[in-house]
Amino acid sequence: MDFAFTEEERMVQEMARDFAQNEIAPTVEKDEKEHLFRREIVKKMAELGFFGCIAPEEYGGNNMGYLAATIITMEVAKESPSYGLPFNLQMNSIQSVLLEFGTEEQRKKWIPPLISAELLGCFALTEPDVGSDVASMKTTAKEVSDGWIINGTKMWISGIPVADVGIVFAMTDREKRHRGMSAFIVDMHSPGVTQRAIEDKLGLHCAPTGEIVFEEVKVPKDAIVGKPGDGFKIAMYMLDRTRLSCAARAAGVAEKCFELAKQYANERVQFGVPIIQHQMIQDQLARMWCEHEAAKLLVFKAAWILDQIRLKRTSERPTLHISTAKYYSAEAAVFAANEAMKIYGSYGYSAEYPIERYYRDAKSYQTVEGTSNIQKIIIARHFIEQQK
Ligand SMILES: Cc1cc2nc3c(=O)[nH]c(=O)nc-3n(C[C@H](O)[C@H](O)[C@H](O)COP(=O)(O)OP(=O)(O)OC[C@H]3O[C@@H](n4cnc5c(N)ncnc54)[C@H](O)[C@@H]3O)c2cc1C
Repeated sequence: MDFAFTEEERMVQEMARDFAQNEIAPTVEKDEKEHLFRREIVKKMAELGFFGCIAPEEYGGNNMGYLAATIITMEVAKESPSYGLPFNLQMNSIQSVLLEFGTEEQRKKWIPPLISAELLGCFALTEPDVGSDVASMKTTAKEVSDGWIINGTKMWISGIPVADVGIVFAMTDREKRHRGMSAFIVDMHSPGVTQRAIEDKLGLHCAPTGEIVFEEVKVPKDAIVGKPGDGFKIAMYMLDRTRLSCAARAAGVAEKCFELAKQYANERVQFGVPIIQHQMIQDQLARMWCEHEAAKLLVFKAAWILDQIRLKRTSERPTLHISTAKYYSAEAAVFAANEAMKIYGSYGYSAEYPIERYYRDAKSYQTVEGTSNIQKIIIARHFIEQQK
């Protein structure tokens, strides 16, 4: 039985599982080997309402909430970590930012086509020389009489080179460090925007990742989200939502690795018995079980807290719970993939079996949306602040 799921949540989970197993799984191995991103899969996800969970109906959403979104994300990531990414690009990043900080015009213009996947989204913080220390970013936005001019380079951006719209962070007053950062909603087909794919990465081959160069890109006055200088606050708000989605993907991968390893251990016979009869294999499986169960519960708790905030039932800050879930799930995914590799023996090392794919994909969770070190810093800072 699932922990505290309502009937509706159970139905959503089944629907997402069916979709992932029937629409993604049959081609995923081949597509990953060919580095093929299928826009039509994202469109089908949109048709099922997958990207409408956090938006009200007036913008085309279904308002099911963050918990429902994490349940769906987890099921999709279990079959394909690559197709877990669009949840962040279509929903948790741009939509959450516009719903909290955007104008009514911005919401009406951008949220419906992101929910329907008519437009593909991205969010751009990272730069070639700037990762964890986002306040050092070099991209600038200069105010002119009729808009803003953006210059700079963003690196490792998910959804590039296929993005149509993005939340782009840039310095509007570098002297002020993080208080001089601003957020812009940018049409990624604007003159001066160049998107280039990073072809050779370890995993997530069906999920495009790339570099964006902004050369004298003119955006209108109303492209700014919030006020000049709000960018850092907006980025932190957004990361609390995108990290949750990342944690859900990681917990899904941890669960999938456990399921595959358990099945293999029951089938593989060595020394005359299925290897699951060997105590050391039982120890590995028991630890994988505990880790992925703990990860899932932390993700569901963090999602539930975000829903309470969304529905204004609490003003509690979610950051501690989100970073805890993100850190734990990322480590659980890598642990589970590593243990599954060992249980599969040589076959784990073979590209004929899915374990090596999960092993490669799982590593991304320790880096994206803030590294494991950065999550531990956020968690520890919470305790330090409590002592003051
Ligand atoms: C597949 C993929 C998709 C991505 N998608 C996006 C995206 O859509 N948008 C986006 O903006 N970015 C994206 N990123 C970038 C990602 O968020 C950054 O890579 C991440 O924030 C880390 O930055 P960095 O790689 O520059 O590492 P660095 O910040 O250079 O860190 C290097 C190492 O130093 C450690 N470190 C740094 N500072 C400290 C400290 N103070 N204390 C202790 N240790 C520290 C880190 O933990 C890490 O181990 C993506 C990355 C990947 C791999």
